[in-house]
Amino acid sequence: MTQTSTDTLRPIGSLCRDSGVPTRTVAKATAIEGAGIHSGMTCRVRIQPRNAGEGIAFTRAGRNPVPATWQFANAEASDRRTVIIGADGERFEQIEHLMAALYALGISDALVEQEGPEVPFLGGGSREYMDALRQAGVVENGGQFPVLHIEQTASLEDGGALLTATPHDGLFLSAFVEFPGTVVGNMGFTIGINPENFYDQVSQARTFAVARDIEALRARGLARGGNLQNAVVFDETRYHNESLHFPDEVARHKIIDLLGDLALLGCGLNGHFWAWRAGHRSHVLFAQKIARECRLDP
Ligand SMILES: [Zn+2]
Repeated sequence: MTQTSTDTLRPIGSLCRDSGVPTRTVAKATAIEGAGIHSGMTCRVRIQPRNAGEGIAFTRAGRNPVPATWQFANAEASDRRTVIIGADGERFEQIEHLMAALYALGISDALVEQEGPEVPFLGGGSREYMDALRQAGVVENGGQFPVLHIEQTASLEDGGALLTATPHDGLFLSAFVEFPGTVVGNMGFTIGINPENFYDQVSQARTFAVARDIEALRARGLARGGNLQNAVVFDETRYHNESLHFPDEVARHKIIDLLGDLALLGCGLNGHFWAWRAGHRSHVLFAQKIARECRLDP
């Protein structure tokens, strides 16, 4: 498809600040504890209310909060998990499943106080976070959440990954995985994002690993808190888990990862986002490309 010169001059999307979408936060603080997937150490987060427009940010031991946004996301560090790094080098890792839960519930403002190297992994998806946040209460806090409307097709290729955004009313996500020669093979899942859809169809989908990669991951200090309760493990012929939450659980988990990383844009999203063979690094690069081309800088 050839683009006309006018198309190339038009931004791929525009931010509507007068969106009519309310900003939301938690009614009260809620704490969650559990092992980190990579470190295996006990980690803890305390999610606290924040004022309208302050956004989602992570902090540790009362230090300066680091916004969970594309400016602080580090694509190079985002290998098997999403990492934000503050100006002083403070790192927050494995933030994506919590970020997806916050976005799915429409929570635009919250301060996450973290203890330990990473966000607790819990069941391997977003469900426990959604339950805890709902139990704490999700309340409007008086502002309007800006919404980014995708108006032109935008794409990014990174290694074998391809990401595309196309105009759409509402937020739709499609994720496709390819593990040729394994029991997973090619798999895809598409969903229109709202709290119920995300909770019912996706939030329980666990992270996954190919069995033969696990030893190498552990040697690199990753996946040490992983087990068959919080991760889907598969090989050429079979799943190692006794049962799956969904037959296409692997593709559904990619939806959690994609939503959690797109939430780094720090605004509501209107468009259809497609991801093929993508991972956190390419998700982060795509969010950063969209943010720069749509001039989301404050
Ligand atoms: Zn994940």
